[in-house]
Amino acid sequence: MSELKLPSRAEDFSEWYNQLVLRAELADYAPVRGCMIVRPYGWALWENIQQSLDRRFKATGHVNAAFPLLIPRSFIEKEKSHVAGFSPELAVVTHGGGEKLEEPLVIRPTSETIIGHAYARWIQSYRDLPVLINQWNSVVRWEMRTKLFLRTLEFFWQEGHTAHATFEEAEAETRQMLDIYTDFAVNDAAIPVIPGRKSASERFAGADQTYSIEAMMGDGKALQAGTSHNLGQNFARAFDIRYLDKNGNLQHCWTTSWGMSTRFIGAIIMVHGDDQGLILPPRLAPHQAVIVTIFKTAEEQALTSEAARKVRTQLLAAGIRVILDEREGFSPGFKFNDWEMRGVPLRIEIGPKDVAKQTVVLARRDRPGREGKSFVPQEQVTEAVPTLLDAIQKSLYERALAFRNGNTAEPGDYEEFKSAVEKGFAFSWWCGGSECEQHIKEETKATLRCLPVEQPGGSGVCIYCGQPASDRAYFAKAY
Ligand SMILES: [Zn+2]
Repeated sequence: MSELKLPSRAEDFSEWYNQLVLRAELADYAPVRGCMIVRPYGWALWENIQQSLDRRFKATGHVNAAFPLLIPRSFIEKEKSHVAGFSPELAVVTHGGGEKLEEPLVIRPTSETIIGHAYARWIQSYRDLPVLINQWNSVVRWEMRTKLFLRTLEFFWQEGHTAHATFEEAEAETRQMLDIYTDFAVNDAAIPVIPGRKSASERFAGADQTYSIEAMMGDGKALQAGTSHNLGQNFARAFDIRYLDKNGNLQHCWTTSWGMSTRFIGAIIMVHGDDQGLILPPRLAPHQAVIVTIFKTAEEQALTSEAARKVRTQLLAAGIRVILDEREGFSPGFKFNDWEMRGVPLRIEIGPKDVAKQTVVLARRDRPGREGKSFVPQEQVTEAVPTLLDAIQKSLYERALAFRNGNTAEPGDYEEFKSAVEKGFAFSWWCGGSECEQHIKEETKATLRCLPVEQPGGSGVCIYCGQPASDRAYFAKAY
């Protein structure tokens, strides 16, 4: 199976992605349209993403909990814009235990409402604040057009929900979580992202302010890779989440929510992958290195296997996630292709000559062919491998950043803007008017991705209407 080539990215990016997901054994289609089976290799990647994020959440004082999958339908209806935003995507349970239910239940599309209900009971005084809870779960949104990892009916994610005494504290929390997502994307996933604010039309249903991180995929399109919402007092009013302040006055809380999902796996694939398959950033890769032995005779097999086991033991002791591929009946060439498809950052080859010289061959996944190969003495493997993994991590980031920079334009007029969003991002002045945003979307299919947190300053004129503008925004076609 792995000997068949993928379609090239240039020829058919979408089909390249679909086949890669299946052949790298990350995920599979499910009997229900739009659902996804996450295979063990994909789940191992997700577990590493989870651990990376969870560590950051806990370091900033958050704790995990679990809230129910089923939500009374009336809960969703309590917050007006929330119900308007989510109604078309709801899956509703009408029967249980063979009986029609008195009140239909919805399968959570997100948990603001049920958590708001609990917070109203748990929070009484300013001493109870802030409440900083996260949950790892899956949610269901009835999407019409689906694609593995990027958009599925059920997806896995984390959703953080916090309650605070003041607007300022809630805003600081919202921004802190945006920074955490940015730090994770850049440092662990080697994905350059633009942290920014969403325009009103792209906000989460029920939020006062939505922030996101936006990344450029290998075809120049944008992917929203994580979001953080300042919900103001909207949910606190709808669910009566109140506290007694220090002066004995009853106040509504200020709440936030923030999430990152299995969609992020799609970003890793589309940012780093090449025509041979997946390339995983070493910090998140389930296997950071794979050892493949090369032999012809039984004697050579015994010798290379002994050396390979020794190297594996050394690397495991050094904390490297390494796997030894001793599958019978597959040629080294087949195994090379197979692990290239699965994106293992480093391959370690050991043949009879290497055994004789007590060396190993290290082959980088991100640099195919001779250029990516180096030869090191077996006894230096525990220093050479971590050094090389760090170099791969760094080089993946730099390559992705160079690609993004090379495909981001600052168009001088609307004509240039239109051609810019055909190949990548356009960074343009925007007057703040949703009419301009809407016209741009209808005419070019590009949406306003975000107004970056770091604005270059100064002022200019709106790329669409020519009116004075004080903010610059990224526009792009998006997943
Ligand atoms: Zn305008």
